[in-house]
Amino acid sequence: MVIFHESFGILRTNCYLIRNETEVIIVDPGQNATEWVLKHITDKAIGILNTHGHYDHVFSNFALQQHFHVPIIIHEDDAYLLSNDDFNVNLPKSSPDISFTQDSDIYLGGFAFKGIHLPGHSHGTSIYDFGDFILSGDFVMDRTVGRYNLPTSDKEKQYRSLQKYFDIYSNRNNASHIKVYSGHGAPFSLEESLETVQKWLSFF
Ligand SMILES: [Zn+2]
Repeated sequence: MVIFHESFGILRTNCYLIRNETEVIIVDPGQNATEWVLKHITDKAIGILNTHGHYDHVFSNFALQQHFHVPIIIHEDDAYLLSNDDFNVNLPKSSPDISFTQDSDIYLGGFAFKGIHLPGHSHGTSIYDFGDFILSGDFVMDRTVGRYNLPTSDKEKQYRSLQKYFDIYSNRNNASHIKVYSGHGAPFSLEESLETVQKWLSFF
């Protein structure tokens, strides 16, 4: 698998393209991401994956779905955000084709990965675990965690999600070799993310 990314908008939100030999998944296409995605997809696009529903991660969902006719995947608890322009950014509305309600194994073309629900930053915030790497969205970033003081956030849920992440991953083998790709900033290792999460747990 090959991962390719670029960041977009004033929040510099990372959009990822995840490739196997013949297929591509588009992850979190934010503002102005469409042109870049179209330019870099030479294989078959098979889906649009959203880590959560904030506009800077989903802004180009609509344009890309119009172009590729592929499903949009997001946790059910953030589905409402795809059609709510709460931040007044003239969000082009989209709607999910696949919304999962609990931690799920997701199969898309030749890809198999796990969607893990970690609410707090938003009610539907989820990460996607591909085994060799993890897409963490705004749940955990380079030495920090996602904000949990937004109108769409919940501090109590964030605390429980940080604990859940630590419980799931603290015994994972090879944590220093598994890469975590987040919604903003550079990638880091699973091991580093566990240190970050542990540090933030101590602040609650
Ligand atoms: Zn966000």
